[in-house]
Formats: sequence, structure tokens, C-alpha cells
Amino acid sequence: MTQNIQLIDLKRQYESIKDEIRTSVFDVLDSGNYILGPHVQKLEQEIADYCGAQYAIGVANGTDALLLSLDALGIGPGDEVITTPFTFFATAEVISQLGAIPVFIDIDPKTYNIDCSKIEHSITEKTKAIIPVHIFGQPANMDEILLLADKYNLHVIEDACQAIGSEYKGKRIGSMGTVGCFSFFPTKNLGGYGDGGIIVTNDEQLAKRLRILRAHGSNPKYYHSMIGYNSRLDPLQAAMLSVKLKYLDGWNTRRKELSLRYNEALKDLPITCPYAEDDRRHVYHLYIIQSDNRNELISYLENNGVASGVYYPVPLHRQEVYSDLGYQEGSMPVSEEASKRTLALPLYPEMTDGEQNYVISIVRNFFEKKVSQ
Ligand SMILES: *Cc1c(COP(=O)(O)O)cnc(C)c1O
Repeated sequence: MTQNIQLIDLKRQYESIKDEIRTSVFDVLDSGNYILGPHVQKLEQEIADYCGAQYAIGVANGTDALLLSLDALGIGPGDEVITTPFTFFATAEVISQLGAIPVFIDIDPKTYNIDCSKIEHSITEKTKAIIPVHIFGQPANMDEILLLADKYNLHVIEDACQAIGSEYKGKRIGSMGTVGCFSFFPTKNLGGYGDGGIIVTNDEQLAKRLRILRAHGSNPKYYHSMIGYNSRLDPLQAAMLSVKLKYLDGWNTRRKELSLRYNEALKDLPITCPYAEDDRRHVYHLYIIQSDNRNELISYLENNGVASGVYYPVPLHRQEVYSDLGYQEGSMPVSEEASKRTLALPLYPEMTDGEQNYVISIVRNFFEKKVSQ
């Protein structure tokens, strides 16, 4: 019988913690504090502790976490920032918003993370920072990135939006670079019920600047020392996220369990399953596979009630808006190939084994039909 399996079901997670979430909302409403205040401070402390960092600064979303970080580090017109083209647009967008130039480096074909062996030859006098993205929930190769950053005196801004809770050589990501940026967009591993984001750092001066920047560059109120932003984490989101943070490790464990089940059940098929480096904890924000018949497989899944997604159909160096940067087709072959071959299968912590078995059976049917054709 045909089932209907979504890529992610946010409602189901909400139902499982509904009473606690509602209580936390009423706490904020009853408190009379609707901008920043104790609920935001509490979440900031909890996230700092969770990441093993000294400071956390709540902001309006993950994009602003990146934007304010670059701004606070003084990145501006003419500067170059090295990053990956195989990520959500926001990673590069914030560089351009500040008048700086994104310099794209192709990815590693197994992990989809930035290929560190290709970074050094792109470093110039104008290079100010590297933004590694811990893509799909697996940390980038931080040792090599930090080594290069040290050698050339560059800032490292970790785009950890997809990877809260993941670890690199036993250390939680987010606190290894100069700053770590997280998103609480509802579909992320720790998602709110609306937009939200946070920045973590061990640099006290930077933390101070970020707090000033998120409130119109003012401290105290009405005394402006910088041109800033209106980018604060909403206390309603903070209170709900404090509830959800307690469950994050359990949810991430379930994501891994489901991912390993997929790996096992699909291993004999002509697809490439996710590759996890053994010195890292992958938190499987998305379960990404590769197939020669990607588009056909997507249609077949859809016709059988299984949703899937493409992350990302156009690598950033080939986006229309970046045509003037001059990257030709073929200039980043690994990213270009990945954008044509990858798809995400349904994965979320509340997915049942039965639902996953159904997805597996549909994927298997597709390839069995192909063989018999
Ligand atoms: C989600 C995401 C962002 C942006 O976060 P928002 O909260 O949606 O602004 C940035 N980078 C990556 C890699 C993301 O996945």
C-alpha cells in the first residue's frame, strides 16, 4: 500500500513535547520581557556550555550570525573570504553583503566538505578569513583549516548551521574557529518555531562587539558607537529552544541510527551512501545519496509517496548572481557533479522503522525495475 512519507515532519516532534513548549511560551508572555532578557540569557549560557565556548550571542537567524561575525571581524570591501560553493546561499551572500568577495574552493567528493588541499593556492594578500561549512552535519577538516589560518593569519568562521552537536576529534564544533555560527531555522537539528540563530566564541572583545552590533551598534541604549543591526534572538524562541536543547543529543543519536540503517539496507545498490570520517561525530542533518539516475529516482519516489530533496541543485559559483566572478562551467567539477547526482532521503528523529522500511523498499524497487528493463 502506498504511504506518504515527508522529508521531515516537524509537527510530530512538536506533538512529542507540546506541553513543555506551551509552558515555556506562557513563561515568556507572563514575564513582561519581550526583547532579550532572562530567557535569551539562559539559552546563551546553555549553548555556550553545550559547545564548550565562553560566550554565546543570540541573533535573529543563522544568516545574521554569519553576517554579524564577519562585520565584527572587520571584513569589508575588497577583502577576500574563502569558502565552499556546495552550501546554502547564505554562506556566500553575507560575504557579498559586506562588499567582500567570496573565493570558492571545490569540495571533497566523499564528505562534500571544502577540499583543504586546494585552499592554500587561493590565499592572497586580500584573504581575510575562511568559512568552512560543516555540511549535512559532518565537521569539515578543522585541523588543516586552523593550520592554514594560523600560517596566514586568517579568521575562521565556522558555518555550523547544519551541525549542532557534531564533534571533531572529540570536540564539539563551533568553538574551534574564531567564531561558530548556528541557525535555529525550524528544519535544523535544533530548530525553533520561527527564525533564530546564535554565535559562539571564546574571544571576549569579539563577544562584546557582537552584543553591540545586534542592537543597532548601541551600548548603552541610544549611544551608538557603530553602525549595527536589529538582529536579536526572540525570547519566545529562546525559551522554546531551551526546552528542545535537552533532547538534542537523543535526536541526533536517532538520526545516526536511521542513517546506519539506510546504509545497511541500500549498500548493494548502485548508489553512494554518506561517508563518515571516523574521527568525527556526524549528526546527519540530511541523509544524502548519489545516483546516476537521480532525477528518475526522484520521480519514482514521488509517485510512490516518498518525498526527497536536492541540496543543492546549483553550486554557488554557478549562480546567476555570481556570474561576474568569472567561474566557468567545469571550474569546480566535484561540486558540479554532486549538484547533478545527489538527493536527500527522508530523515528525522521521529521517523519510525516501519516508515523507513517503506522508503527502503521503494528505493530498492526502483533499481530492481531498472535491472529487469
Ligand atoms: C540554514 C543555513 C544557513 C542560514 O540560516 P538561517 O537561520 O536560515 O538564516 C546558513 N548556512 C547554512 C549552511 C545553512 O544550512
